[in-house]
Parts: sequence; structure tokens; C-alpha cells
Amino acid sequence: MAKFYLTTAIDYANGDPHLGHTLEKVGADCLVRYRRLRGDTTYFVMGMDEHGQKVAMAAEKAGLAPQAWVDQISGRFQSTWRALLCSPDDWIRTTEARHRASVTEFLRRIQQRNPDALFVGEYEGLYCVGCEEFKQESQLVNGRCVEHPERELARMKERNHFFRLSTYGPRILEAIASGAFKVEPEIRRNEVLKVLEGGLEDVSISRARFPWGIPFPGDSEHTVYVWFDALINYITAAGFPEAGYDRLWPADVHLIGKGITRLHCCLWPAMLLAAELPLPRQVWAHGYVQWDGAKVSKSSGTAVSVESAAARHGPDALRYFLLREVGLEADGNFTWERFDERYTADLADGLGNLASRSLAMAAKYRNGVVPAAEPDAAFERVSQERIEAYGKAMDAFDVRGGAESAWAMVTDANQFIVQTAPWALAKEGKEAELDRALGSLARCLYRLAIMSAPFIPGKARALWESLGQAGDPEGAGWTSLAEPGIAGAQTAKPANLFPRPEPAP
Ligand SMILES: [Zn+2]
Repeated sequence: MAKFYLTTAIDYANGDPHLGHTLEKVGADCLVRYRRLRGDTTYFVMGMDEHGQKVAMAAEKAGLAPQAWVDQISGRFQSTWRALLCSPDDWIRTTEARHRASVTEFLRRIQQRNPDALFVGEYEGLYCVGCEEFKQESQLVNGRCVEHPERELARMKERNHFFRLSTYGPRILEAIASGAFKVEPEIRRNEVLKVLEGGLEDVSISRARFPWGIPFPGDSEHTVYVWFDALINYITAAGFPEAGYDRLWPADVHLIGKGITRLHCCLWPAMLLAAELPLPRQVWAHGYVQWDGAKVSKSSGTAVSVESAAARHGPDALRYFLLREVGLEADGNFTWERFDERYTADLADGLGNLASRSLAMAAKYRNGVVPAAEPDAAFERVSQERIEAYGKAMDAFDVRGGAESAWAMVTDANQFIVQTAPWALAKEGKEAELDRALGSLARCLYRLAIMSAPFIPGKARALWESLGQAGDPEGAGWTSLAEPGIAGAQTAKPANLFPRPEPAP
């Protein structure tokens, strides 16, 4: 059995969760549920980035001590992801004792094994408080940070501990070229290669007299720079520095947003090389959710809350929309109109209606028991093609393609119902043909419950139960898609899975 250790970016504890964060979390949950279905041993970590200047400032503004502030924010993020049916195995917070121990040991390892990688120097440069990092001229547009064009950059000067990032470029390039360290999708890899080929600059990794952080080992005047601290969370969650962390480490995928690829594809691998620890196998950088063409984020102040989006048609529908419409590669738009259209077409009139009419016919003609008949050969052949296309897309993190293949089966099934007209078969007393039609539809619903589960885990489980199946659909395993074990099952008419929205007054 393969191991699949997946992390999301840990979110910065300076505000509430928004739709931009949501895409990444439900995207990761979709991928991990798919890997569970494939039979991998999965480990899925989410969490919070709780140190640094921005957090300290937000706490002060709220009139709270930093720890009280981050406790509150962490609870809010965690309950938001839970409400969206995310299924992490661990929730890591960078203020935890286990993380402090991990960061301290990580730096000690560098100090012992590669002391030349660290030095003390004077730093002067333009600092973006939004990113919590010094910016190089080449990263600026009109003298401003690309991610935070609304902020003034501050000119800062201080004595700092530095990390000799400049010496690691060639080894990271080599790891990318050999495939040992994958950066995906290709558009992001090309950007990272350009940065690496252009040469990296050494970076400051400590802050003087700034208390809201982890003390720098051997220099009590300094705390560890927030990004250096935060990146280490991925190996902390694996158990580092305790024995046995290598059961999970290296991570199989870091799922992050495209705005933080330099940190994950240049700084983080360099840190690991300096500490003589293995590199993650892959970084996947997704695009942004846009609202009227602008990135949704805290600082852009866009006014669509996760709560209102989830309340519109339920958490399953929000997951489905983001994954089907935006996906994990390019940017995509969120609009209420498009969300409503997808909900009605794909969920209410699509999967929901198919399930209710198919199970209503099973109830009417066979008392809900799935007939043990040979399935329709043509319908079966098309279904096998859909399953194959679905697996191929999901293996490649193409969640839009995966959803498309699964939902194509809804269309196939509706056409099958029109072609076979089970009500006419019943009227004409063609019992064997009716058995075949009802059995084929039940097989299709069984497959749909499994294939839709990574996208709509709550509703997929409701469908699964109405098919007379126990446990979670993912637990049925990939091979059950080829040969659904549903003949003889006692089905029930499902509750209305996706109610049609009330017409606007
Ligand atoms: Zn910035």
C-alpha cells in the first residue's frame, strides 16, 4: 500500500477564513478522499501559522494577547473546515510545544551539520508586512508587492541571522530536473525554474527584539523569522524530531497557492538540504478564486463570506462548485449566478433527480430490491470508460476533469432511462428486460456514490445509505467500481438530496 502524506498551506492567523482559503482546503480533502478510495495509507494535515508581526498587530488591534487571539482564530478556521466536511488527520498550530521543539532542532541540525549555511549580517531592504518578507527589486511592480499592491513597503535595517540560500539553487534545480522534487502544474514549474536560474539571494531568518516567535537557538535576542518557522510545520506534523517521523516524511504533496511558490520551491527545499533532510516529493500550486476578476483574499477585502456561500445550497454544493468550476490549476471565477446554475443543472436536476427517479422505479416495480440481472452491455461499456477517465484525471490532480467524468455518467444514465423506458417494460410485462434496466441503474448509482464522494462527501454518503450500503462510499474501494456488489440490496427512496431552490420572489 502506498503512503500519501498531504499538507495544505497553514493559514495566517490574522483574520477570518475566506473563499480563497476554501478552494485549497476542499481541494486537498478531495484529493485525499480519492487516495483513500484507491487504498493508499493517507495522512492529511491542516493548520495555522500563528507567529509574526501581522498576527501580533491583529491581536493588538483586537485588544487581546497574541495567544488568546490565535486560540480564537484557530478555533474559527477549524470549525469552518469541519463544516465543509474536510477530514484532516491532524491540526497543527505553530504555537504548539511540538513545533517549537521541531524548529529548534531543525536549526540546531543546520548549525551542527552545515554551519556555513548560517551567518550573522546587517540587512537593509524593502519589507512587505503583508508577506512578512523582504522583497527584491525584481519582485516589485510599480515599487509595490505584487500580492499586496495596496501596501507601502517599509525600508528596514537590522542585524540578523542569515541563511545562505544563494548556494542551494543548483541542487534544487537538479532535484527538479531529475524528478526527485516535482513542481506542478507546469506553468508554476517554469516560473520557479526561472527564479532558480536567475540566482537566489541570501535571506534574513531572524528578527531582533520581536517577542512573538520562537527563540533563535543560541541567540536569545532574536526570534526565528515567521516564514522559516512556518515552513517547518510540515515536518513537525510528521513527528520530527522524534524517532519514526520518516514513516510519513518526505511529504508526498504540499498543496499551496501560486503566490507562495518561492517559499515552498526555493527556501523550503534549501532549508531541508541544509538540515540534511529529504525534500518533499511534490509541490502543487493552485490558482486563485476570483470575484469579479479580482483575487479573493483578506487584504483585498472582498465581501463574500464562506458562511454565506455554504449556506446558499449547503456545504457539499459549495465544494462541488469550487472543484468543478475553478479546480486546482488556473484561476477561476466565483459568481452567485454561476453557482446557482451549476447547482440546479448538475446537482438538483442532475444527480439528485437521477437518484430519486431510479430509486422510485426500483421501489415501485421491485419493492426496492436490486434485481440480480446481467447489466446492459452498452451502458456498462460506457461506464467503464467514464471510470477510467475519472481515475486518470484524479491521479493528475485534475479535479475538474474528474468531476466531469463522474457527472457524464449522470447524463448517460438519464439517456439510458429514456431509451429503455422501464415504465413501458413494466406495462408490457417484459420482466427480464425490466430487471436488466433497474439493475443497470442501481449499478450506476453505486458507482456515482463512490466517484462523487471526494467532491460531495455528505450527499454521497446519503445516496450510499439509500442504496442499502453501510459505511462510507470511499471504503468500498476502487475495485468495487468495476464490479459493484449491489444485486439483491434493499434500497430506499432517498430524502431529496438537492432541493430545488425557492424561486426568487
Ligand atoms: Zn506582500
